Amino acid sequence: MTHEQHDPNYNPNRTEDLFALTGDGYIIAQDIACQTAYVAEQPCPACGERETLRLVAQINHSFQGLNELVTVCTHCGKKTSFIFDISNDVYQQWWATIMGDAYIRPLMGRHGPPPGSSRPPSARGYGRAGSNLW
Ligand SMILES: [Zn+2]
Repeated sequence: MTHEQHDPNYNPNRTEDLFALTGDGYIIAQDIACQTAYVAEQPCPACGERETLRLVAQINHSFQGLNELVTVCTHCGKKTSFIFDISNDVYQQWWATIMGDAYIRPLMGRHGPPPGSSRPPSARGYGRAGSNLW
């Protein structure tokens, strides 16, 4: 037993897909805790320093099945965004359990746009998460 299993932000049903990249280049997240943990382990993509990324904002793109964490490096001052895919079933089932009746499934799952939609994710200006990471 680890303390993580008592953390309400931790999904005990994580799978090996955690932190894999989607076809769009987003990072697969399966709960909330994993996103901040992932960011904490990344070196600054600008200066390469470790443990210098400070989380400054979270931008909710849940209508797209995405969540963006914005960090600033305490060493060089550069801003970096990490974009996580939260549209996967592992995350959504976990979130639905937490939210109960308040749960709202993302309108547009990333496993296929609704009929009539012409919404390529890259056209929304977020680009590939990897483009400013590595
Ligand atoms: Zn830096």
